[in-house]
Amino acid sequence: MRYVDEFRDFTLARTIVENINRIAARPLTLMEVCGTHTMAIARFGIRNLLPPNIRLISGPGCPVCVTPQAIIDCFIELGRAPNVILATFGDMIKVPGSRTTLEAERARGIDVRVVYSPLDSVIIARENPEKQVVFFGVGFETTIPAVALAVLEARELRLNNFSILSAHKLIPPAMMALACDPEVAIDGFICPGHVSAIIGSAAYEPITSKYGIPCVISGFEPLDILQSIFILTRQIIEGQAKVEVQYSRVVTREGNPAAIKCLRQVFEPDDSEWRGLGIITGSGLRLRHEFAEFDASRFVNNQILRPIENKACECGSILKGLKTPSKCQAFGNKCTPEHPLGPCMVSTEGACSAEYRYATR
Ligand code: SF4
Repeated sequence: MRYVDEFRDFTLARTIVENINRIAARPLTLMEVCGTHTMAIARFGIRNLLPPNIRLISGPGCPVCVTPQAIIDCFIELGRAPNVILATFGDMIKVPGSRTTLEAERARGIDVRVVYSPLDSVIIARENPEKQVVFFGVGFETTIPAVALAVLEARELRLNNFSILSAHKLIPPAMMALACDPEVAIDGFICPGHVSAIIGSAAYEPITSKYGIPCVISGFEPLDILQSIFILTRQIIEGQAKVEVQYSRVVTREGNPAAIKCLRQVFEPDDSEWRGLGIITGSGLRLRHEFAEFDASRFVNNQILRPIENKACECGSILKGLKTPSKCQAFGNKCTPEHPLGPCMVSTEGACSAEYRYATR
């Protein structure tokens, strides 16, 4: 038996579904706030297993999807300057900015390098002292400590040709914004496992205490997710609102203090714009004053053209859980993983990509 088999046992899954059915006495809307959960839910057909009165909606849990076009435009613009190397994770390459993509601009001559770790971009800077290397800081709490480490390493090496364009996002402030949005009306949150391993379960307590919305931190296997749905359903039906950890094999209440310390040493909270959700107070990060020399935003030209939203793309509504991907007119015809119009179809963790891959086959 492989280690994952015990998390995919169909008999056990059927028992959990029967238990959910037994207690789900009214219509419920549950939001998963993690792209990996979105993929797992689509891949294992979890929506089809649930009773019809339980609606799962996908939230803003894919870092690529929530990055607004304006900052992608800025990053591309930085690459147009002479002697600049852009470094980015591969999943940003195809994401459309307003007018073009990194992939298209690389074909036209901009030096864009795909890296697997932020430290790789520090190595590129060290090996190219005559060039300025700009790393695109995209991601949630799971990846930000590694970016902070890269900044500390660049300082240790006394590099003066390395900088970061920070588009990082913090999950709890976005959940708070959704919790008080009357348009969305969520009964419970399935919280992200990887992010929670860093920030700890205590980070969600303000959501349960202030908004009365139950939170369950879930693992990524089918039984993890079904069990989390059962725990959430039970809380809601019993009128409770607390943070529970289904993914206790990885997540503690305190999270990872070393990673948080590193993050806080380099970054401080800032307001940030999310695609589809607008500007959310304290939901982003900027480099602290003492690391200003590594902040690529000082190179950004404020005269950059205003971003142009693609009106055919409804990623904004999808990231708020107001629409499902197949309700978008472009889904599966004008917009496919090969020819994506929006980030939710580009990213492997995007809701449109998940539905296209698993629901349309
Ligand atoms: S299907 Fe394509 S165009 Fe429609 S919302 Fe998703 S990414 Fe945007």
